[in-house]
Amino acid sequence: LEGRKINFAAGPAKLPEEVLLKMQEEQLNFNGLGVSVIEMSHRSKEFGALLNETISLIRELMNVPDNFEILFMQGGGTGQFAAIPLNLKGSHDHADYIVTGAWSSKAAEEAEKYIKVKKVFQPSKPYVTVPDQDKWVHDEKAAYLYYCANETVQGIEFTPTAPESHNVPLVADVSSNFMARPFDFKDHGVVFGGAQKNLGAAGLTIVIVRKDLIGKQQAITPAVFSYKEMIANNSLYNTPPTGGIYTTNLVLKWIKSKGGLQAIYELNLQKSGLIYGIIDNSNGFYHCAVDKSYRSIMNVCFRIGGAAGNEDLEAEFLKGAAERNMISLKGHRSVGGIRASLYNAITLEETQVLATWMNEFQKAHS
Ligand code: PMP
Repeated sequence: LEGRKINFAAGPAKLPEEVLLKMQEEQLNFNGLGVSVIEMSHRSKEFGALLNETISLIRELMNVPDNFEILFMQGGGTGQFAAIPLNLKGSHDHADYIVTGAWSSKAAEEAEKYIKVKKVFQPSKPYVTVPDQDKWVHDEKAAYLYYCANETVQGIEFTPTAPESHNVPLVADVSSNFMARPFDFKDHGVVFGGAQKNLGAAGLTIVIVRKDLIGKQQAITPAVFSYKEMIANNSLYNTPPTGGIYTTNLVLKWIKSKGGLQAIYELNLQKSGLIYGIIDNSNGFYHCAVDKSYRSIMNVCFRIGGAAGNEDLEAEFLKGAAERNMISLKGHRSVGGIRASLYNAITLEETQVLATWMNEFQKAHS
């Protein structure tokens, strides 16, 4: 599309053009109602239908088992860092945390306000892998075992399966790989993420909760953060992010039109494989520090000019990328380097533009 950049942002991130065009088309008049979705009452019959359809689409595409509820909340992934211990503590005294990067670290830190946090291993920086599961210290009395399915900053993804649960409910932060691949709900108690990377706009947080875990909230739990309250009101306890739900509705239909999660996953493997392939065949010119077994298919993080990175080369790479229409490739400030976020909406063709530039850039510097 004319004037559009190739947007590798980590989130908020690129949305499919088909979705943006549909929003544009419906902006003045949604379904012949003479108003846009964001101008409608959240209690209207029409909005209720849109909300329920969105829930059904999530259930269908992710194959969410019947014993899970799907909630629309606000406060982002960060809000859930607090909501999880607030809702799941029950009579437990602590929760177990797997810290594999910046986001699980933040989650553990926030949780400490509401529950005793135990880390199953001592995290060590720089984060580059998921330590050997045999050596973790587990406790079957934990309220839950928390992990981040994809560390957005470091590019570390739990693959191909979730951690061993040791008979406590798993809590997964899927903010940056939501519907990037088929998901197995086995052993999970809560699966949550913000919509602003793979599923839509910032402001909507999707929380999928196992029914038997509902009702264990602490007395101080704010109503808007209470799973029980949200479920009792079909996510309409207060005004939900109506525009966000609408955007996600369209993204879900787009995912369905692409063949669902298996098809999306295969494409994601192809896209990330293309970039990792260049890194691995670059004789060290490009360097990805992440353990190969846990490399993210969403956020490909690498340095240029060796393992430590050469900041001048990286700046030149980013400048050349911008001249070729590619934006938001700068790594997170805490780790530096380059980060190419290849969320679902990024096409293979767009990934190929990046691949071509990487090859060209290396050639020019060897
Ligand atoms: N978890 C992960 C894995 C993330 O990538 C992010 C945001 N980048 C968050 C949590 C925090 O989400 P939010 O900004 O929606 O609070």
